[in-house]
Amino acid sequence: MSARFFTLPLAIALWLGGAGAAARSPLGTVAADLGGAKRPALLGPARSLGSPTDGSLEGGVELKAGPALKLRRSTGPRWGLPELVALVERAARQVSKRHPGSVLLVGDLSRKQGGELGRHQSHESGRDADVGFYFVDRQRQPVESDRFLQVRWDGRAVDAPELEFDDQRNWLLVQSFVTDPGTRVQHIFVAEPVRKRLLAHARRIGVYLPVLHRAAMVMKQPRRGLPHDDHFHVRIACPHGQHGPCRAEPRPLSKEPAAALGVRRRVGRDGLAQRR
Ligand SMILES: [Zn+2]
Repeated sequence: MSARFFTLPLAIALWLGGAGAAARSPLGTVAADLGGAKRPALLGPARSLGSPTDGSLEGGVELKAGPALKLRRSTGPRWGLPELVALVERAARQVSKRHPGSVLLVGDLSRKQGGELGRHQSHESGRDADVGFYFVDRQRQPVESDRFLQVRWDGRAVDAPELEFDDQRNWLLVQSFVTDPGTRVQHIFVAEPVRKRLLAHARRIGVYLPVLHRAAMVMKQPRRGLPHDDHFHVRIACPHGQHGPCRAEPRPLSKEPAAALGVRRRVGRDGLAQRR
């Protein structure tokens, strides 16, 4: 973990001027804010094994719906590392604190023990979460949706042009992710027009430059796969102390045998490990 991880949140806490945030140390905040994502100490630490595209999860915690967030599928894959679950909860809470009544729509995380997820290329190791965008109607009033809405070039929802991508709350969400004091975000996959829109908004409102640069670095449109124009796909970095069994990035050319990493391969009905 780089020293930058510790210094940026502190600088940001001071910049944000939140009395509580500035008074707490980053580590103290982690302990306090893992609240909803707490696990009994006897179970030992949760572990992310392998990579997001070829991995598994041990001891993950379940993300639960709350006043500031709802789940897109109540029975869907909603487990992750405690750091991921806490990050999503904290970000949703921050937005709803500044904009009361805001509810973040959260899609898939990982299965309880990780492994392959039919609809995704990744989400295997408890470090990925899909979260929807916030929208407003023509009167600029917040609107809740039960599904991810694809955004057009002009910020309108493709299937509901009366709804518009809410720059203010979506930026606040991204800012919460990239300045989180307890969890380091590695990537936020999102379509390039959405990324540009958010960065333009951040510049307009005079966001603290290190935060702007960090958001610009973290947000990216994936080179392969879907463009992510209807949700953010948030991936957190391997937690401190888990480097080794937890692999930050998928290996593009060759994959290390999963067994060497202690990864449980999903076994198909025929008893054979399924290949990707
Ligand atoms: Zn995703």
